[in-house]
Amino acid sequence: QPLVFSGVQPTGNLHLGNYLGAIRKFVALQENNDCIYCVVDLHAITAQLVHEDLKGQIRSIAAAFIASGIDPVKHIVFNQSAVPQHAELAWVFNCVARIGWMNRMTQFKDKAGKDRENASLGLLAYPSLMAADILVYRATHVPVGDDQKQHLELARDIAQKFNIDYQDKIRATGQGVDMVVGEEPIHGYFPLVEPLIDGPAPRVMSLRDGTKKMSKSDPSDLSRINLMDDQDTILKKIRKAKTDPDALPSETEGLAGRPEADNLVGIFAALSDKSKADVLKEFGGRQFSEFKPALADLAVEVLAPINGEMRRLMDDTSHIDAILRDGGERAGARAEKVMNDVRDIIGFLR
Ligand code: ATP
Ligand code: MG
Repeated sequence: QPLVFSGVQPTGNLHLGNYLGAIRKFVALQENNDCIYCVVDLHAITAQLVHEDLKGQIRSIAAAFIASGIDPVKHIVFNQSAVPQHAELAWVFNCVARIGWMNRMTQFKDKAGKDRENASLGLLAYPSLMAADILVYRATHVPVGDDQKQHLELARDIAQKFNIDYQDKIRATGQGVDMVVGEEPIHGYFPLVEPLIDGPAPRVMSLRDGTKKMSKSDPSDLSRINLMDDQDTILKKIRKAKTDPDALPSETEGLAGRPEADNLVGIFAALSDKSKADVLKEFGGRQFSEFKPALADLAVEVLAPINGEMRRLMDDTSHIDAILRDGGERAGARAEKVMNDVRDIIGFLR
């Protein structure tokens, strides 16, 4: 059975991009898969070391998972730092991965900004920890937004190099499986993960700048719609969203070179489970002054129930804490099995 893993950082308010690019897929995948969903708190300190209320942030991501429809009993919901095997495997992967691979990551370049020498080493090694998050369960499928595609390719590269470099040791421990890397049959330990990035809004863009992705860490709150925004705030943010002066085109080709229009149409499509072409069939030729209120109503309709349930869950944190504790124990038991294999493969004495 395929094993699904994904994570969300407790770095701020969850937004529509997180929901459409990740959490909504997490919910859909529960039906036919074994799923592990993680609040990746170790990642949260890579870009910013000190957080005002990290515990509260962790709980609120977990609450968003549950409020969106993730079942923490059939599946696993936990926070990363509760399972130290993530960090342990990340160390091994730091030794597998090459500095050059990390230097090429666009997220690192974006987040480090101009003063790269002064970024944390953790920010550079972020993809190595992300690979460990996935592979410490030997997960095969990872639902993420399009911005994480490069990191998943790196996770494949890490798995592949580990499998090839330790091939004889893997065979000797009897723990691997036969697989094909490129053309070559090898006996590998870690699966090569498959990214699950599709849908009409794989990358939701900022409401203030159609060339930048919507982010928790964007300083402008007007750039994103938060899952916790109330109706008036959603209406206001969509009303103020940057657009161009033209009417909507009637076909998707007409969205080329109009990043803001493309983004809003993509959001409408994703929220209504339609294609962009269908949305344009309905709204082509109309002005943003007509389209924006329809989009705002739709966003409120989808987000209001999640928002309400999140608030209810956050009122009494003991329930969320119990879910995370239970998830951490179950995840930890699985991760320890894999780590024992890894320790044997490498040759650590235990
Ligand atoms: P930060 O700015 O702190 O990196 P973030 O908004 O990028 O926060 P993450 O916790 O890094 O959120 O990512 C969680 C998940 O949400 C990932 O699968 C990521 O691909 C997805 N995601 C984040 N932003 C977007 C977006 N704008 N559109 C679609 N998916 C997104
Ligand atoms: Mg991010």
